[in-house]
Amino acid sequence: MAYAKVIVELTAASLERPYTYRVPGALEHKVRTGSVVAIPFGAGNRTIRGTVVAMEEHADIPLEKVKDIQDVHDKVDLESQLILLGHWMKERYVCSLQAAFNAILPARTDVSARKESRVRLLLDPEALTEALASVRGNATLAKRAGVLEMLLEGEVRIPPEGVPSRRFLAQARTTQGVLQGLVKAGVLALSQVDTGEMPVPPREAPVERPLPLHPAQEAGLHRILDAVEAGRPDTFLLHGITGSGKTEVYLQAIGRVLELGKEAIVLIPEIALTPQTIGRFVERFGNVVGVMHSRLSPREKMDQWQKARSGEVRVMVGPRSAVFTPFPHLGMIVLDEEHEMSYKSEQVPKYHAREVAIKRSLMGGFPVVLGSATPLVESYHKALEGQYTLLTLEDKAVSGPDLEVEVVDMRQELLEGNKGILSKPLQEAMAGALERKEQVLLFLNRRGYAQAVSCRQCGHVMKCPSCDLPYTYHAEGRRLLCHHCGSSVKSPESCPSCGSVYIKAFGIGTQKVEKQVQKMFPQARVVRMDLDTTSTKDGHARILGEFSQGRADILVGTQMVAKGHHFENVTVVGVVAADMSLFMNDFRNSERTFQLVTQVTGRTGRGAKGGRAFIQTYSPGHFSIQAAREQDYGKFYRQEVLYRKMMGYPPFSNLLVLLFSSTDEKALVQGSRSLAGEMEALLESLDPKLLREQEVQMIGPAPANLSKVRDMYRQRLMVKARTYKFLTYLIKEFYNRMQADEKYKPLRVAFDINPMVS
Ligand code: ADP
Ligand code: ZN
Ligand code: ZN
Repeated sequence: MAYAKVIVELTAASLERPYTYRVPGALEHKVRTGSVVAIPFGAGNRTIRGTVVAMEEHADIPLEKVKDIQDVHDKVDLESQLILLGHWMKERYVCSLQAAFNAILPARTDVSARKESRVRLLLDPEALTEALASVRGNATLAKRAGVLEMLLEGEVRIPPEGVPSRRFLAQARTTQGVLQGLVKAGVLALSQVDTGEMPVPPREAPVERPLPLHPAQEAGLHRILDAVEAGRPDTFLLHGITGSGKTEVYLQAIGRVLELGKEAIVLIPEIALTPQTIGRFVERFGNVVGVMHSRLSPREKMDQWQKARSGEVRVMVGPRSAVFTPFPHLGMIVLDEEHEMSYKSEQVPKYHAREVAIKRSLMGGFPVVLGSATPLVESYHKALEGQYTLLTLEDKAVSGPDLEVEVVDMRQELLEGNKGILSKPLQEAMAGALERKEQVLLFLNRRGYAQAVSCRQCGHVMKCPSCDLPYTYHAEGRRLLCHHCGSSVKSPESCPSCGSVYIKAFGIGTQKVEKQVQKMFPQARVVRMDLDTTSTKDGHARILGEFSQGRADILVGTQMVAKGHHFENVTVVGVVAADMSLFMNDFRNSERTFQLVTQVTGRTGRGAKGGRAFIQTYSPGHFSIQAAREQDYGKFYRQEVLYRKMMGYPPFSNLLVLLFSSTDEKALVQGSRSLAGEMEALLESLDPKLLREQEVQMIGPAPANLSKVRDMYRQRLMVKARTYKFLTYLIKEFYNRMQADEKYKPLRVAFDINPMVS
């Protein structure tokens, strides 16, 4: 006898508790995991729909209580799809069902309260100054004066559409009483509005029309629409440089999806989700466009979710989490900038939006479009193998002034006596731009960066011979440590390649760059944008605003400046130290460098003025820098894929990273070694043929890149295997062993399969 576990409703409570039903003989070959079935339910035995999430041979309740499944539906509706998606995520990302549904469903909030009070500012700065003058010195109104000061100085900002009063009170650090006083005084207005408002002004009707397409765009669109109309779950990789017209292709494909009565999801990295980007969708499709972003309150998120479900919103633009938008007739998912790290969740469940999108497309019968100027090697490999369909846009959609990209050899600079951060050619170009009242952008890539040791004279980088990745410098004992395999050597006094003594740890911070730049150009207005300066809620937008309005001449920033912004007046761009990403001890270091340099150089040459980009490096001959300069993705890919193959990295393997942590360093080191040993033994006990097929390789344990965080010591262990599934099996084995033995008690473990930063 077969039994099915059935979930009847997409609510947290029922998801936790599937019901057991009997599969009658007549339906035996039709009912399986994923089926949508008709079942008798409740005391009255009314027929309802349910989703089968598991099949079992035995019933776990008394047999006389088990009812029969009545029928199987052919179509899997939205609700069932989301239920099945949760179950798939649980297996795929080795997490609890609850964690999976926490990612899929919006946080439960009181949705009956759809109104919220919003604060608007009624006065302009001049009137504010007057209002402040009138209360100054009045002791009883000191609090009110304080708020007025904050408003005047921009410490508290109220955009034209107002802010939720809750947020206003928090920002102004004040009370409801003071707020009411300011309303009475005519400074502020309070109003009740519907929640879920758009961050850009909504438009009733579209104002922009599709452009006549170029032949390559037309060809790509045609292929995508074929799949849309046939309901085929194809995955397309749309490869084209910035400005080649990818977004125009998405827009026209979405136009057709809407005509067919279906809906579309457009994923954009959060950092690129600017009013400019969102505006293009709103201008094309009007008020059916919804926007998700991380700054929405739970209630606003719930509101977007319900509008999508009810059909009020039909195009959802948002970051990673928008992949779960509950559209009932989903017709396409677009992932723009598919190479972006932010598509991978860093919290449990550690899902990748691309994988979820493809899973949804298989369930719903519609295509996925991945777009990028610099696709991940994994994605491009799949496209060449035929798993994805490759669509290429070779040229810019609108030809503009030519872009000049110059690679500056910093070794040469040193020979000529320049020990500063900025090379002569970059300095000269900056001076010229400032003279002409144009702007300058300087980049530093810091993400995932650890200190490598390199030679300023010849560019030689100290690498671990067995991992072929840069060693990390540890000042303690002046040693070089490989954070992959744990091997270590003494830091050399002179360069093993050229004998120079200019060999040392390499690192520059944005602050240091800002200082040097300011010293070199004392008249220039310099602003800095990095995690420090953007940690406040609006810091990011404020700095970009200042710069784009011309209130600053030079912007120094991390890669967060590189995305989704378009500065007309920027004519000089500098990558201050391309080697920072090149020297990361991560197998993606060349890929990251290629992405960064391509992206940065893509910034210039967009305005009418054209521009120059300077890539400063100690490794000017490195293929990823050369290929980026020539804007030649193929050249980069062919070289990189050889390295991945030789070293057995993705796409030729899957990678499991286990991070053990403990406050007890000794227990941690011993525990992680002993676990690695137990796994070694497990592997040896497996069928040798399987082992050979999987090409399993264990690397480490070794101190993690951040080897101590908030009093927790951290050790990392990596396992490479051919298939993803084998790694999920190993995770379960790790868990079992850790639970079985007391000595692992002080250890905590976090794991990630195919992380974007290993
Ligand atoms: P991408 O998304 O690849 O960066 P976009 O779609 O944003 O490229 O296009 C870049 C610019 O070229 C935009 O201003 C867009 O309006 C314009 N554009 C795109 N396709 C065409 C076309 N077929 N004809 C004219 N202009 C186009
Ligand atoms: Zn190593
Ligand atoms: Zn050297």
